[in-house]
Amino acid sequence: MPFDRIIGQEKAVAVLRNALRNGRLAHAYLFIGPEGVGKRLTALTLFKAMNCQSPPEPGDCCEKCPSCIKVNSSNHADLIILEPEGETIKIDQIRGMQKRLRFRPMEGGRRACILDSADCLNDAASNALLKILEEPPQETHLFLITSRPHKLLPTILSRCQWVKFRPLSPGQIAQILQTDQSLEDEKAHFYASLAGGSAGQAVALSDRVDFQKRLDWLRFFSSLPQKSAEEIFETCERLAKEEEEVGDLLDLWKIWVRDLVVFKVQGEGAKEGLINHDLLPDLGKDAANISFDRLEGIFGSISSIQRSLSFNVNKQLALETLMLEIKKESSMGRR
Ligand SMILES: [Zn+2]
Repeated sequence: MPFDRIIGQEKAVAVLRNALRNGRLAHAYLFIGPEGVGKRLTALTLFKAMNCQSPPEPGDCCEKCPSCIKVNSSNHADLIILEPEGETIKIDQIRGMQKRLRFRPMEGGRRACILDSADCLNDAASNALLKILEEPPQETHLFLITSRPHKLLPTILSRCQWVKFRPLSPGQIAQILQTDQSLEDEKAHFYASLAGGSAGQAVALSDRVDFQKRLDWLRFFSSLPQKSAEEIFETCERLAKEEEEVGDLLDLWKIWVRDLVVFKVQGEGAKEGLINHDLLPDLGKDAANISFDRLEGIFGSISSIQRSLSFNVNKQLALETLMLEIKKESSMGRR
């Protein structure tokens, strides 16, 4: 069943399906929750269920009828999806939607407007949307999707029924990666652990950081004590040009340090608790050469550069400082 494919959001899905079955769907919903946890998928599935021509049971959809097929091929005349053009959702986009809402649903069923990243509505667009929410058109349901509800006008927030979506557990994300992205078990679990509760983030990470790159970066970390200052400066210069790359690198190193601490506490028996558990021998080698105090120092340094990078500091300089510090901390060994 299509609703079964929405993993980890049983409560939100149950509320919505009940409303659909009882004919009590609200005109406007606000789906709140972290990015990449299934909010848009839920809105799309609900729209399919509203219009399905041969639902297998009340409040579900078949995926086979003309209506379901049109939704799946982004071709349904009564499904309007707005998302930011550039940084914001603009008033012209809302006006375009408003125009379409003047007519009855074209396919004769119900209509849905999905505003993805609704927190990106600019002021003019917010006010125009407010007008629509004040007089909701017949047979139409609005779904505002956001991970940052505090950025929306209070008057918009108060006109929507809120449905909360939860962050996903690493196990749930791994399940999604295995089914939807056909990732092998080991890789799925690795990216899932890195993704901070968001399946969307895990998919993006698996695209950006392939397994070889991860190995290169982790080995670079381990070999920092032997690197010359020139080699470090060269690497930092290259890295500083890539914003996402720096972010991914720091996340990977932080998790490596975290794994080193876990390994030092639990030894070989730590396998289950490790994120990089496929690299057990490398972890063992690194862990033997560095003390808890030094690891704590390195973890703190990485966290502080992550914070300062969000304030537009000189990326190259910050990376150089960090790497030289790690070099120093690691060279001091077990003392
Ligand atoms: Zn159907």
